[in-house]
Amino acid sequence: SLNTERHEYDVVVIGAGGAGLRAAIEARQQGKKTAIVCKSLFGKAHTVMAEGGAAAAMGNVNPDDNWMVHFRDTMRGGKFLNNWRMAELHAKEAPDRVWELEAWGALFDRTKDGKISQRNFGGHEYPRLAHVGDRTGLEMIRTLQQRVVALQQEDYETHGDYEAYIKVFAECTITRLLKDGDKISGAFGYWRESGNFVLFDAPAVVLATGGIGKSYVVTSNSWEYTGDGHALALLAGAKLINMEFIQFHPTGMVWPPSVRGILVTESVRGDGGVLRNSEGKRFMFDYIPEVFKDKYATTEEEGDRWYTDQANNRRPPELLPRDEVARAINAEVKAGRGSPQGGVFLDVSTRLPAEEIKKRLPSMHHQFKELADVDITAEPMQVGPTCHYIMGGVEVDADSGAAAVPGLFAAGEVSGGMHGSNRLGGNSLSDLLVFGRRAGAGAAAYVDGLAARPKVAQELVDEAREEALAPLGRTGENPYEVHHELQRTMNDLVGIIRKAGEVSEALGVVEKLRERVQLIGAAGSRIYNPGWHLAIDLRNMVLVSECVARAALLREESRGGHTRDDFPGMNPDWRRKLLACSTEDGSAVQVEEKVQPSMRGDLITLFDRDELNKYLTDEEMTEFDGISK
Ligand code: FAD
Repeated sequence: SLNTERHEYDVVVIGAGGAGLRAAIEARQQGKKTAIVCKSLFGKAHTVMAEGGAAAAMGNVNPDDNWMVHFRDTMRGGKFLNNWRMAELHAKEAPDRVWELEAWGALFDRTKDGKISQRNFGGHEYPRLAHVGDRTGLEMIRTLQQRVVALQQEDYETHGDYEAYIKVFAECTITRLLKDGDKISGAFGYWRESGNFVLFDAPAVVLATGGIGKSYVVTSNSWEYTGDGHALALLAGAKLINMEFIQFHPTGMVWPPSVRGILVTESVRGDGGVLRNSEGKRFMFDYIPEVFKDKYATTEEEGDRWYTDQANNRRPPELLPRDEVARAINAEVKAGRGSPQGGVFLDVSTRLPAEEIKKRLPSMHHQFKELADVDITAEPMQVGPTCHYIMGGVEVDADSGAAAVPGLFAAGEVSGGMHGSNRLGGNSLSDLLVFGRRAGAGAAAYVDGLAARPKVAQELVDEAREEALAPLGRTGENPYEVHHELQRTMNDLVGIIRKAGEVSEALGVVEKLRERVQLIGAAGSRIYNPGWHLAIDLRNMVLVSECVARAALLREESRGGHTRDDFPGMNPDWRRKLLACSTEDGSAVQVEEKVQPSMRGDLITLFDRDELNKYLTDEEMTEFDGISK
């Protein structure tokens, strides 16, 4: 129909993963009329796929853990490029957010004395991940949904309408944010099933759309992660930071080809799994970088002892941060020491009894049995790096999640800053809860402070509708071919190891793809038409890929999820610099350099001078010596 369906809300949350649900719950609890819009079925988000757990320094398994240790680990994992205020809030608030989930009905695995159990993960000094077997995300989503339902039941009691204050719009894709002057006034999208359009008139929008993995061929991400939120923010005038930093998870399945990229949880290594090359060697001992030398075991014996005695031994190098392990695997395969299917071997069968493996890693056991006919209780898996997570995203205010555009907020994977150049495993689920809540509160406070409600201009709605309809009227290029070329280009030329020449080549391809996207034709009608949906998503994927490639070309150093073959090693001058991407009208991406503010005195003095010396400039060290005196 030509009449666009219209809804009025105070806050529209785009995305129903952990960040979106937590934000929506908060906005509703602050009395705001809230919509939750999601592209797929309600409950089907990345968050539900999360396996390992949520990092929170509760100190249940090792009482020495506390927010300061977690803060330090997070900053180290991100190689000190993190927005330190976010890392601070995250480390301080994560335990409360996990306990809150239990109050809402979650049931985490327990220690012997009945506390929430915590497991080891890469880069975390102590066992820290609250978990439910290897299905933590499922419990998190289930609990948050249950909380939404509980609030709806309250609203029914009070208003006679379950959906009076919080309503879910599932299988509905947002394609444009609308503005009145410089302020957000709403969001425009379509119902995936009918192809009919829908307009949300709202002064505040919280983006919680997750990642961008579908710009790469080999990825752990599912079809939804086409960087929509990143692109929506850019097109609305916000900035994206840290886009060059992409996490290639070290362990994705490599075989059979149809499942290449599917995640093999880090819990396998956390629970004792070891990595070996084709010569049977535990190669990670050869890849401990200088900055981490004193924190990791140097012999297999010490690494093995650590599983039972953590006080007197150092952790095995299989548990280095993800970027280190991914590069090591990549190097082993390149050197011809890979497994038959082009990965390396990951073996937990020699560490734990079969029953224990099935108990601790039920999904992994099932996944390998079903998909690869491999019994992980008896034989090694073959694994290799897979595009998993983007550290980059919308530049936000740490405390409120506010983007530079008034009325726009972002939380979760779509936001940038918290994880710096590399995210530690488990720090995403906690990030979603901490900053989802803060963004929901930020949006509510913003709405309260508005003098007048911004208006939706009909011409912007018409433009958004025309833009969405355009591919249907054309007999142009096939969206699947364009997508495939983008994925190959990003995978091969802007992957784990980057070189100026290759990244420039990729940029050339991406620029051409941007023009080709304008010519894509989708056959068929508006009724459930995946080719049309992909044509729409491609605008976003191409825009986001351009940000990744441009930033990757400019950053002439290697750090975390950005490795430059031609600039190996970290450069302290680059540590302070953020690359911020923006666009005028979507036709090209501009990148500007920004300098990060210095870390607050009480936070920087949580680190030893020797450690800081590995990361900071001489100038910063002089500043530090002034503070620590
Ligand atoms: P998501 O959960 O990704 O949700 C995004 C939502 O946005 C979805 O509802 C989607 O439908 C919606 N959406 C997207 N675009 C649009 C649009 N245009 N219009 C409307 N809706 C839209 N992290 C950990 O901390 N611990 C783990 O153990 C862990 N394991 C993982 C395992 C796997 C297999 C994967 C893929 C990731 C894992 N991660 C883990 C990372 C973590 O799960 C994600 O980073 C996190 O769940 C992202 O949450 P989110 O709320 O930001 O977005």
